[in-house]
Amino acid sequence: MIIVLIGPPGSGKGTQAKVLSEKYGLAHLSTGDMLRAAKQSGTLDPEFRAIMDSGGLLPDTAVIGLVARRTQEADCAGGFLLDGFPRTVPQAEALAAMLRERAAGSTTPAGVTAVLQLDVARELLEERIIHRRTDKETGQIYHLLYNPAPPGLMRDPGSLEHRKDDQPEAVKTRLDAYDSMTAALLPYYEERGLLRRVLGVGTPNEVTGRIVAVLEEK
Ligand code: AMP
Repeated sequence: MIIVLIGPPGSGKGTQAKVLSEKYGLAHLSTGDMLRAAKQSGTLDPEFRAIMDSGGLLPDTAVIGLVARRTQEADCAGGFLLDGFPRTVPQAEALAAMLRERAAGSTTPAGVTAVLQLDVARELLEERIIHRRTDKETGQIYHLLYNPAPPGLMRDPGSLEHRKDDQPEAVKTRLDAYDSMTAALLPYYEERGLLRRVLGVGTPNEVTGRIVAVLEEK
């Protein structure tokens, strides 16, 4: 199974990716997480670091290379779930070419199994992201209004991180980048009969239920 999960920042894509990859035994490949890890360890090109901080997209060649290498690792042999990739038509084409090439003489599927698009209204996304905070120690995500961190953490501003790209200006840039990205990417997958739209509002469990229903109807 090779699943592509598409959703704007704040759509709950990361949460769903985690649940689905566990449920179906897939490796969870988040290009955003891989790039943030490279940034933290100081191995990310400073030019790419600046692009990420401003909320822009990295060049296709850089992320295609990253995914090509990562999908060669052993844990991807049983299938994988892509979270945050592809974001452009050239990335989708590179993924298709890569899968076709690997399918020759192996058990790897020749293409993507399904592309799931999480649908959430833009106003709701802005509200969700701007109030998002991450516990620096555990990675747990909170929402200042709807899911606040325990009082001890709330009182210690140093313990909660407000990601640079979760600041209002960067959020607008990322949502605009998402809109222009999907303008071409969704028709690309729709034309190939792979696109499945799923409503991304409600509790995480409700959203998972909708996704599972869509995947299992195939
Ligand atoms: P994410 O956590 O998926 O929103 O990714 C965080 C940032 O990493 C994005 O705002 C981009 O700067 C960069 N990034 C992640 N995936 C891609 C991709 N497929 N193409 C280009 N840039 C990406």
